[in-house]
Amino acid sequence: MNKLNTVIAIDGFSSCGKSTLAKQLAKTLKFAYVDSGAMYRAMTYHFIQNNIDLHDLDAIAGCVDTAHIEFRYINEENRIFLNDQDVSEEIRKMYISEKVSKVSPIACVRKALVNIQQRLGSEHNIVMDGRDIGTQVFPYATVKLFMTADPKKRAERRHAELCAKNEAVSFDEIYTNLAQRDYDDTTRAESPLVCASDAVVLDNTDLSMEEQFNLALEIIQTNAKINLHQ
Ligand code: C5P
Repeated sequence: MNKLNTVIAIDGFSSCGKSTLAKQLAKTLKFAYVDSGAMYRAMTYHFIQNNIDLHDLDAIAGCVDTAHIEFRYINEENRIFLNDQDVSEEIRKMYISEKVSKVSPIACVRKALVNIQQRLGSEHNIVMDGRDIGTQVFPYATVKLFMTADPKKRAERRHAELCAKNEAVSFDEIYTNLAQRDYDDTTRAESPLVCASDAVVLDNTDLSMEEQFNLALEIIQTNAKINLHQ
């Protein structure tokens, strides 16, 4: 990581609102924003498109390098592209959520995506969210936040979000998927989700988005000594 760049690392459980907060912070701080989870989702989509058996590590290793994943900022929105195709909407669907935490523990997948993430961090001041940003990708991040919330509340928020997009998914399906991903992400051998010892924990179970944003800004200002009024 370029020591001159400021990196805000946001890790935490699935559907804690990490991306929403990270986007708001990046906009306010005028930093680049990277949703690392979207990269694992895009890679999962790539394997499905190529009919790769997710248990076949040789096939996976052969297919990883054929995925060109990049972010493009279009109409004030960060969009993710896989081999020049905008997959931003597709990767949010339930069939990807059900497979992604089987793909994310695979070492060659992590190596490829962490390389891209570290390169982005060396090029820009950045806010990046994920599961291993403060522990593996940027262990020397300027500020580390670890987000958590009550699982039921997280499932309710996600359910409302998918209903708004007219995706027919039940609350129970979402709750089960979140619990499974929490379990998979925290127990995997490769870069498990853990709270970095120097991260500040932000539990947003009872916080509004505005309260959470103000709290995060306060933590960042205190820890990174960033002047927000420049
Ligand atoms: O953040 P999101 O829920 O979209 O992430 C999808 C999945 O990608 C997670 O459940 C996790 O398995 C994986 N992931 C990861 N490391 C990251 C970001 C996401 O393993 N830095």
